[in-house]
Amino acid sequence: MHERSLVKNLLHQVQQIAAAEGNGAVEEICVQAGTLSGIEPFLFQTAFEDMASPILGAPCRLILEVVPLTALCNDCDHQFEVIDFKFRCPVCQADSVHVVEGDEVKLMSITVNSEEPLDGVTS
Ligand SMILES: [Zn+2]
Repeated sequence: MHERSLVKNLLHQVQQIAAAEGNGAVEEICVQAGTLSGIEPFLFQTAFEDMASPILGAPCRLILEVVPLTALCNDCDHQFEVIDFKFRCPVCQADSVHVVEGDEVKLMSITVNSEEPLDGVTS
C-alpha cells in the first residue's frame, strides 16, 4: 500500500531528526500532502497510527494538511488551482504551466518534547 511506505519513510525521517535533537519524545508531526501526491488522508492517518508507536517508541499526533494542486502559467505568470487535472491557464488559456505546489508529501514540522519528565523527586 502506497500510504504505508510513505508513512514508514516519514517516520524514519522523523526518528533521525528527533535523535539529532537529543532523542526527546516526538509529540506532534505536521505533514503537508498535495492532492496530486495521490494519498488518501484516511489511509495515511490509519497507517500513521499503526506505525508511529513501533518506530518512534511512543504514539504521537499527526496533523495532516491537504494542499491543493497549484500551477503557475509559464506565459503570463498567473498562479491557479488545478481542478480535475486541467493543466491550462484560466487567464490566457496556455497549456504551458508547471506545478508549484501539491504534488508531494512534505514534512513541515516536528514537535519534540526534549525536557526530562519531572517525577517530583529532587533529593
Ligand atoms: Zn497564462
